[in-house]
Amino acid sequence: MKLVFASNNKNKIKEIKNQLPDSIEILSLEDIGCVVDIPETADTIEGNALLKADFIKRHYGYDCFADDSGLEVDALNGAPGVYSARYAGEQKNDEDNMDKLLRELKDKDNRKANFKTVITLHIKGETYNFTGIVNGQIIDQRKGTDGFGYDPIFQADGMDKTFAEISMEEKIAISHRGKAVKQLVEFLLQAK
Ligand code: IMP
Repeated sequence: MKLVFASNNKNKIKEIKNQLPDSIEILSLEDIGCVVDIPETADTIEGNALLKADFIKRHYGYDCFADDSGLEVDALNGAPGVYSARYAGEQKNDEDNMDKLLRELKDKDNRKANFKTVITLHIKGETYNFTGIVNGQIIDQRKGTDGFGYDPIFQADGMDKTFAEISMEEKIAISHRGKAVKQLVEFLLQAK
C-alpha cells in the first residue's frame, strides 16, 4: 500500500514510518514532486487537515493523509488554535508566540489549555478523521530547551515537567500528535 503524507517535516515522517510495517509505504510531498505551499486557509484545525488532504487527492490522485495541530487556551476562548504557528505574526516565530501568549495570560487565573491534532485520511474513496488531545496548563515562564513551538510553557496534566523537559519518546506517548498517529496506525494495520 502506498500513502502520501502531506508533509515535508522529517521528524513527523520518521515518527510515522517507525510505527508502520514496510508493506505500507509512506511518501512525502518531496517524494511526489509537490513543491507548492499547500493552502492552509481554513478557520479550524479540522478544516486545514481536510484542505491539505483534499489538495493531494485532487492534484496527485494518491490515497493520502494530512495533519494539523494547534494549542487551545481556555481563558482565550480556544485561541490561538488554528493560528498557533502565526499567533504573533507571519514570521511564525516560536519565541514571539510564547511571549504574546504569556502577555495575554498575565492576569488570568485559569491557565488551562490543550494541544489538539487532527489527521484526515483519504483512502479507497473514503475519508476518516483521527483526533488526539492532551490537556494541561500554561505555566508562567519557560522551562526546558527541547521540543518546539509552545513546548517550554506547556505542562500536561499529572506532570511536573513541561514538554520541553521530557524526551521525545515520553512526549510521543502522551502528546496530541502521538495519540492521533496511534489511531491512524491502528486503523491502517487493521485495514491492510
Ligand atoms: P502543526 O500543524 O503541527 O504544524 O502545528 C501548528 C503549530 O501549533 C506549531 O507551529 C506550533 O506553534 C503549535 N504546536 C503544534 N504541536 C505542538 C507541540 O507538540 N508542541 C508545541 N507546539 C505545538
